[in-house]
Amino acid sequence: MHNKTLTELRKALHQREYSSVELTRHFLERIERYGIQLNSFITVTTDIALAQAQIADKCLQSGNAGPLTGIPLTHKDIFCTNGVKTSCGSKMLDNFIAPYNATVVEKCQAAGMVMLGKTNMDEFAMGSSNETSFYGPVKNPWDTQTVPGGSSGGSTASVAAHLTPVATGTDTGGSIRQPAAFCGLTGLKPTYGLVSRYGMIAFASSLDQGGPIGHSAEDIALLLNVMAGFDKRDSTSLEHPQENYTTHLNDSIKGLKIGLPKEYFGEGLDAQVGKQLDVAIKELENAGATLHDIQLPHTYLAVPTYYIIAPAECSSNLSRFDGVRFGHRCDNPQDLMDLYKRSRAEGFGAEVKRRIMIGTYALSAGYYDAYYLKAQQIRRLISNDFTEAFKQVDMIAGPTTPTTAFKMGEKIDDPVTMYLNDIYTNAINLAGLPALSVPAGFVNQHPIGLHLIGNYLKESRLLNVAHQYQQCTDWHKATPPNFV
Ligand code: GLN
Repeated sequence: MHNKTLTELRKALHQREYSSVELTRHFLERIERYGIQLNSFITVTTDIALAQAQIADKCLQSGNAGPLTGIPLTHKDIFCTNGVKTSCGSKMLDNFIAPYNATVVEKCQAAGMVMLGKTNMDEFAMGSSNETSFYGPVKNPWDTQTVPGGSSGGSTASVAAHLTPVATGTDTGGSIRQPAAFCGLTGLKPTYGLVSRYGMIAFASSLDQGGPIGHSAEDIALLLNVMAGFDKRDSTSLEHPQENYTTHLNDSIKGLKIGLPKEYFGEGLDAQVGKQLDVAIKELENAGATLHDIQLPHTYLAVPTYYIIAPAECSSNLSRFDGVRFGHRCDNPQDLMDLYKRSRAEGFGAEVKRRIMIGTYALSAGYYDAYYLKAQQIRRLISNDFTEAFKQVDMIAGPTTPTTAFKMGEKIDDPVTMYLNDIYTNAINLAGLPALSVPAGFVNQHPIGLHLIGNYLKESRLLNVAHQYQQCTDWHKATPPNFV
């Protein structure tokens, strides 16, 4: 059961080969067997899952089922879940039981999906390795000595090890695509505003975007159908008509113009990853796409710009966690100042504190112009690079990450090296564009990702190209040997 695509699961459920309760139990058993080893869950919601599966079975019996009724999923622990702990990977929210559902959670529930649990993540989604979680690091099922990527690493490790068929994640600077690449999965960061941020704990509001993670483009298209849509409770939600993201999966990609930015294939890219990527791009050419050299001249500024804007926004967003309005409260405070100081000192981990300090500094009166304002100006230049590129080509292809998954502990004490891991992903969030990562082979048994970037609201085309690529390759079907 756990190796099936969503379409196969749907068919099996509709034809009563097994019930949603049986399917759910099967995944819960796998979570019990492998979840601790991978540390990919913060909370397993067994009772909720079985109750939702029972409801789903009733809908299936009465003929009221939708495409994903009865299909299990997991949510990154950044999405608020009514009555269920929502920790955001932080001690600050270790005791937080959300009093309402995020829109994404509500939509999945309304579609009849079954929530298996909440997945581990970097603290407040800050990280590229899933080592900053208060609940400890997540392991990569392909090689448990290596990181699964971050910050949605609990979601990707769980899908890769077949502990759930699909999962939700969020991507502020690469957190869906980078762990998808490291774990051999397909993950999409939608256009900013396509998926509601309501009830998704904010890290950097102008960059945060939820999206689907799964094995194939088809699977994540089905989940995106459920997740996307206008939400009046999110002021930056796009009023875009509801699309069916599976409609164009089988379209031909003949004549599709793919741009290859020279900045993505130079220094910094691991030679073996680069070689494997050339093979992947050749496949797209064989399927009818044409390749074009392009330039994105401000690429080198993406990481420094992101690491001013994201911390600036996080320093503001995280000010609410003061032990009074939200979050952990220290014992026996002497006065209000002591309460604020100790609650925040105890509640936040090192990476979150580092970002709050950088952000506060960048926004302070004396430095605002030099850092924050400058970063916003460069953000425009980065975005303009893409606007120019999309005048020449339909899509941009490159690596998702410069290397394959690195060893646990290798970069955690060197933040700048860790940040450089985001070199290909940060710019997409700064511009608000959609992009996805598709499994494109292995280097020394470690998966690599092909990064496809589309113009605004071209999710359907991106999924189409990824699906066509998956018709001529089998990388997305590979299973980590210890989790078959
Ligand atoms: N790695 C980036 C960071 O640490 C991106 C994280 C994310 O997308 N949530 O900020």
